[in-house]
Amino acid sequence: MKKNLFIAFEGIDGSGKSTQVEHLSAKLKNAGHQVYTTCEPTNSPIGSIIRDIFNHKLEGDHRTIAGLFVADRLDHLLNKTNGILKKLEEGFTVITDRYYFSSYAYHGVHMSLDWVIEANSLSADLLRPDMNIYIDMPPEICMNRLSKGRNSLELYETIENLNQVRGKYSEAFNRLKNTEKIFITDGNRLPELIANDIWAEISHIR
Ligand code: ADP
Repeated sequence: MKKNLFIAFEGIDGSGKSTQVEHLSAKLKNAGHQVYTTCEPTNSPIGSIIRDIFNHKLEGDHRTIAGLFVADRLDHLLNKTNGILKKLEEGFTVITDRYYFSSYAYHGVHMSLDWVIEANSLSADLLRPDMNIYIDMPPEICMNRLSKGRNSLELYETIENLNQVRGKYSEAFNRLKNTEKIFITDGNRLPELIANDIWAEISHIR
C-alpha cells in the first residue's frame, strides 16, 4: 500500500467526519504510516477570520466567505512550515477534515457552482486527493447530534441549509466523477462499520 497518501473527508456538519478521521488515522498508523491530520477552515489567521464569521463574531457575505476559503486552502497547501505539500514531502500520509468539495457544496448553495470550482482550480491543480471520502447523512440526524453537544449553532447549521448542501455535494460529485476519486459511504451506521468500509477502500490504493 502506498505510504504517502492524501485523503480528504467530506460531509455535512455532524456527519461523523472527525470521528472517522480518528479511526482512519489509527488504522493507517497500525499499517506503518506516519500520519498528519488537519482540517479546514485551518488554524491560520485566514482560518480564524472564517471561524469568527461562523461563530457570528464577525459579519461576512457568502461571497466573502467563499473567497476567504480559497485563500485559506492555498495557505493550507503551500504554507512552508506546516502546509500539506510540505508534510507530504516529509513522508506523511495527510488526512484533512474538509477540502475543496466542501467549498463546492457549501458555497454552491449561494453562488454558481462553476464559479466555486474555477476559484478553487489552483488548489485542485496543486493537489487532488487520492480519495475524497463522503459520509452521507440525513441532515435531521446530524442536527440532532450537533444540538446535543452545543449551546449555539454555527452559520450553516440549519436543516434547510444542510439539505441544500447535501444536494450540492451530490451535484458536484456527479459533475467531477471523471476527474476525482470519490468514495461515498452511508454514515447512519455504527462508527466501526463505517470505518471498516473506509479502510477496505483506502487499503486498495496503490
Ligand atoms: P463532524 O466532524 O462531521 O462534524 P463528528 O465526528 O464530530 O462530526 O460527529 C458529530 C457527533 O456525532 C459527535 O458527538 C460524535 O460522537 C457523533 N457521531 C459520530 N459518528 C457517529 C455514528 N456513526 N453514530 C452515532 N453518532 C456518531
